[in-house]
Parts: sequence; C-alpha cells; structure tokens
Amino acid sequence: VAKGRGPGQVEVFDDAASHRSLDRLDLRSELRHALDRDQLALHYQPIFSLNTGRILAFEALLRWTHPHHGSVSPDVFIPLAEDTGAIVEIGRWVLDQACRQLAIWHRLPHWRTLAMAVNISPAQLRGTKVAEETLGVIRRTGLEPSDIWLEITEHSYLRHDVTEYATTLRAAGVRFALDDFGTAYSNLAYLKRLPIEILKIDRSFVSGVTGPELDLSIVRAIIAIADSLGLSCIAEGIETEEQRVAVQELGCRLGQGFLLSPPLPPEEATELLRTEYPLDAVRVPIR
Ligand code: C2E
Ligand code: MG
Ligand code: MG
Ligand code: MG
Repeated sequence: VAKGRGPGQVEVFDDAASHRSLDRLDLRSELRHALDRDQLALHYQPIFSLNTGRILAFEALLRWTHPHHGSVSPDVFIPLAEDTGAIVEIGRWVLDQACRQLAIWHRLPHWRTLAMAVNISPAQLRGTKVAEETLGVIRRTGLEPSDIWLEITEHSYLRHDVTEYATTLRAAGVRFALDDFGTAYSNLAYLKRLPIEILKIDRSFVSGVTGPELDLSIVRAIIAIADSLGLSCIAEGIETEEQRVAVQELGCRLGQGFLLSPPLPPEEATELLRTEYPLDAVRVPIR
C-alpha cells in the first residue's frame, strides 16, 4: 500500500507488490536472452469443428520456461516483449517454428488441409517490408499462405493500424482472425476495414453462456454479427459439456477449449493427429 504521497515523502509498498515489480524488471531483461538460451517453445491447441468433431487447425501458443521461475505466462511476458521490442524477433521465430511444424504435419496421411493459427502483436508490424517477410517465412517452409491464420486481438488493433499489412497478406491468401472479440470497445467499423474472416468469441462470454441470460445474449449477438457479415466464429475457452452444447445450439461451428483439448507439446499434438483421422481429405471451408 502506498503511503504518505505528499511532496518529498517516500512511498512504501507492501512486499508482494515490490517483489512483483522487481520480477518484472528481471524478466524484461532476461526475455532478451530467452530465444538464444532455448527457453521458448510452442504448444499447440486444436481448433475443432463442433459439428463433425474434426480438427481443422491448431493455435500456436508460446511458452517460456524460466530457469528459476519455471513457466511464465504469455499474458505476463508478451506485454514485456512488446515494450522492449523483443517481440519482433520472438514473433519471427514463432511464425517460422509454427510453419515448420505445420509442414511436418502436412506430410502425415490425411492432414494435408490442416491450418495453423498464429498470434501476432501489432508491435511486430512496424516497417514497410513486414508483409513480404511474413509471406517469405510461410513460403520458405513450403506452405500456402491460406494454410495460415493470423490472430490479432481487438485490444491491439485499437492501438495500431494494421489494415495495410492485413490487406496485403489477405490478397495473398493468408486468413485473419479477430481474437478475444467483445473484450475491447468493439467498434464494428473494424470489421469493415479489416479483411477478417474469423471472430473468436472471448472465453469470458463462453464461460457465462450457461449462466446469466445477458452472457447468452452477447454470444448470440456476436454469432449474429458474424453470420450476417459472412464470417466464421470460434468459441474460445470451452470448459464444460454444457458450454459446448450451448454455443453449438447458438450456431457457432468452431470451438476450442480445455474440454476438447488443452494446448499440447508438439509430440502430443502429433500423437493426437495420428489417432484422430479426419473423415476425408478434402479441403473443407472453415465455416
Ligand atoms: P489467446 O490467443 O486468446 O489464447 C487463448 C488462451 O486461452 C491461451 O492462454 C490458452 O492456453 C487459454 N485457453 C485455451 N482453452 C482454455 C480453456 O478452456 N480455459 C481457460 N481458462 N483457458 C484456455 P495462453 O497460452 O496463456 O496465452 C495467453 C495469451 O498470450 C494468448 O491469448 C495470446 O494473446 C498471447 N500469446 C500466446 N502466444 C503468443 C505468441 O506467440 N505471440 C503473441 N503475440 N501473443 C501470444
Ligand atoms: Mg489467439
Ligand atoms: Mg483469445
Ligand atoms: Mg487472449
């Protein structure tokens, strides 16, 4: 608790708060070496068709194993990486790594059409060549641009204009998802400006979908917006069978969450693909 805020007086913080801020300073500088020291890894969470139960894509989620603190949440270190600019190099590594993994999975029988969703921070998008660089990474790994979905959060979109980047990549076939939809000041004008194909309904609404009528109404409204604009919807953070049934009955066709599968290390994700064949090998539209 900060005390004595008058001029010349010293602020006293409680122990927990000062430890937290110390940690953040350390983490901030250590993050710069995390890549070189091999402390970063990607886990992959499957995205399912709720109607057929088949896996359509994986979302790549970054993991940082710190030598002393153990696993650090991306919700903590991604903002730090954005602040320091480390996100540029880290983001390049994430895209490269995720593309290589998808190229490997495409060589498995039946999984030629699997897609990969990659989260990107708009802080990665400064500079005039970023769209070409992104396409370069995708093509060097032997993938088609349409194999990749890039996820941008509404929060970050509020702070940076990513329209030009997104338009260039969309023209090449890359698909865009608006992540955590509904958690910022949802300005529907974005949906017109950005070449988005997918809305991800934030987990905070999905978790309330079987509770208060208001949450149910919000999810219904988001799905209605998506439908009328011709966009797909993904329900994020499905944790219970009741939630799965509820979002499906509201017309949401795609879902992700601990009920269906947590994010998996690459070996376990590969095992899942080996045991769960899709019904056929035809490229299905994401809707
Ligand atoms: P996100 O993109 O919205 O990812 C979904 C988050 O929800 C992930 O947390 C995932 O592990 C978690 N999740 C999935 N299913 C469930 C569920 O059923 N219940 C609950 N409670 N949680 C679930 P994670 O991996 O901690 O990532 C947090 C955020 O960090 C991500 O949110 C994304 O915004 C960011 N992030 C992760 N990896 C990257 C990356 O490579 N680059 C960038 N720029 N951001 C990343
Ligand atoms: Mg995401
Ligand atoms: Mg999300
Ligand atoms: Mg999120």
